[in-house]
Amino acid sequence: MSDALIKIKNLFVEYTSQKGISGDKQTIHAVNGVTLEIFKGEILAVAGESGCGKSTLAKAILHLEKSKSGSILYNDKDVLKMDKKQLKEYRKSAQMIFQNPYSSLNPKMKIIDTLKEPLDINTDLPDFEKFNIIKEKVEKTGLDINSLNQYPHEFSGGQRQRIAIARALVLNPGFILADEPVSALDVSIQAQILNLLKTLKRDFNLTFMLITHDISVIKYLADRVAIMYLGEIVEIGSKSQIFINPKHPYTKALLSAAPHIDGEKSERILLNGDLPSPSKLPSGCKFHTRCPYCMDVCTKASPEDITINEGHLVKCFLYLNKAESCTAPNT
Ligand code: SF4
Repeated sequence: MSDALIKIKNLFVEYTSQKGISGDKQTIHAVNGVTLEIFKGEILAVAGESGCGKSTLAKAILHLEKSKSGSILYNDKDVLKMDKKQLKEYRKSAQMIFQNPYSSLNPKMKIIDTLKEPLDINTDLPDFEKFNIIKEKVEKTGLDINSLNQYPHEFSGGQRQRIAIARALVLNPGFILADEPVSALDVSIQAQILNLLKTLKRDFNLTFMLITHDISVIKYLADRVAIMYLGEIVEIGSKSQIFINPKHPYTKALLSAAPHIDGEKSERILLNGDLPSPSKLPSGCKFHTRCPYCMDVCTKASPEDITINEGHLVKCFLYLNKAESCTAPNT
């Protein structure tokens, strides 16, 4: 396996929110002890239900959300210990693409100004060099160079997402965090943007973390997949390890709910109840309140990572006595 660009160790993120009409404060345990590596040149997808903590994890990696404890190393430098100057440099090399391209673009700014702004803030380059960079990124993202004097509302959703991607690229980042990059787009446009991301990854030697709940997007783009549940990574592996040989009961349920592009059918695994509130985490294994295979031990102790194969880890007591001799159903 190649070098890790990002190494996250035992990361916790909590925040306080107001509860209902009473206005009482409650602590949201959004990320709970995540340990994760993102290797140079790969696309790591982080998948899970809405509210599982994947977007908070993404914001914590970019230091847009404060972490309670743990470490996030980028090229072996701890993001959580960076001073202002180091953080500014880090944010140049780690960029984000958001879900909604309309709300992520300033409606009052012409596209040329939107693309030039990061270069104005972060570089002393002369204008002609800034324009050359913008021209290159605009052409790479498939936009018309003659449209730069227009405003965001004059573009379609797909074109706006291309503009947002071009803006993320103007500072020549090494790492892109894409949070549901196609979920706000028409289905007919989604494939074009996914193809574009694949091409850009290759041409600019980018590393991606892809946040998504869409299994078909993961199948198309990802090299590795991490499954998140209530702020924990419960399973991680290569795309084939996760799709061909999923182990965690939650991973199996998540995959069973996704439509198969090839028309193949599998039986939907229905889980009991909804995702518990991250303000009231269950004891023991956080999945035990919904798990069809819950055992006594699961309610009392938290499972650690168990290695199934090289690079394939799962947090589940069903696999405690070696992957080969596990007694998990359907394995
Ligand atoms: Fe289910 Fe127990 Fe495994 Fe948790 S540890 S996923 S409750 S079997």
